[in-house]
Amino acid sequence: MRLPGGIVEDGALQRDFAFRPMTGAVELAVGEAGAAQGSLPARVTAALAASLEMVGGLAPLPEVVTGLAVADRQFLMLELAARLAPGETWLTAWCGACSERFDFAVDYRCLTVKEAGAGYPFADVQTGRGPCRFRVPTGADQELVADLDDGEALRCLLACCLVAHDGRMADGRSAWDMVESFSSDDFEAIDAALESVSPEVAVSVQAACPACGALHVIPVDPYRALSGPQGENLLQEIHAIASAYHWSEAEILALPQDRRWRYLELIERARGMAG
Ligand SMILES: [Zn+2]
Repeated sequence: MRLPGGIVEDGALQRDFAFRPMTGAVELAVGEAGAAQGSLPARVTAALAASLEMVGGLAPLPEVVTGLAVADRQFLMLELAARLAPGETWLTAWCGACSERFDFAVDYRCLTVKEAGAGYPFADVQTGRGPCRFRVPTGADQELVADLDDGEALRCLLACCLVAHDGRMADGRSAWDMVESFSSDDFEAIDAALESVSPEVAVSVQAACPACGALHVIPVDPYRALSGPQGENLLQEIHAIASAYHWSEAEILALPQDRRWRYLELIERARGMAG
């Protein structure tokens, strides 16, 4: 699998990535990132920096992870969620047509992904103020505007993404002044141009109500790996294994997830035989 966007290095697009083997230590670090103070983009950065082995051929340092396009970060977070809890996830929805509640399965690896368009990560736009080049928004941009209200966040985001030298356009005007002078037509043109090159991950799934057949589009949280129960479950699992084998916490946390689960099965089976 490859990133829908990728990182440009020396003019070439690098789209490879690899996660670390899923051990308890990685699960714990992701759980801590989820529970940390700070903005959502900052917690996403912490979770990815703790769980990735490599992204775009680079070590997953925070500055590398924040520099990823928003959709790449969503894509990686969905992959992380699938690794933390392999298999399908069951969600519950309410049918507005027949008022029934129903459960449906989601495989977070099967959400629709749109790859970046030609020219990524840049989009050239003919604005009323002349030609402008924008780059697609990254996690760093999201972190910067996380505390602003919607209108201000959009203008700040565009000022960040407007390609300028030392914050200035060719005519000496600042990127901020430029953004302030855009008309609503300009905003629409910029939005359309960025959308055509931006990678995208569908953050909704379709599910049919089993009672009446009505089709629903249900939003899914691309950052659900941050809100998983892994912290609490993990402590219980460490406790069960430590009680049975008297291994240290560090030794148990270093076990790959599937091996840890096999030991838990053995403990359960031994208990069943003893009882
Ligand atoms: Zn229904």
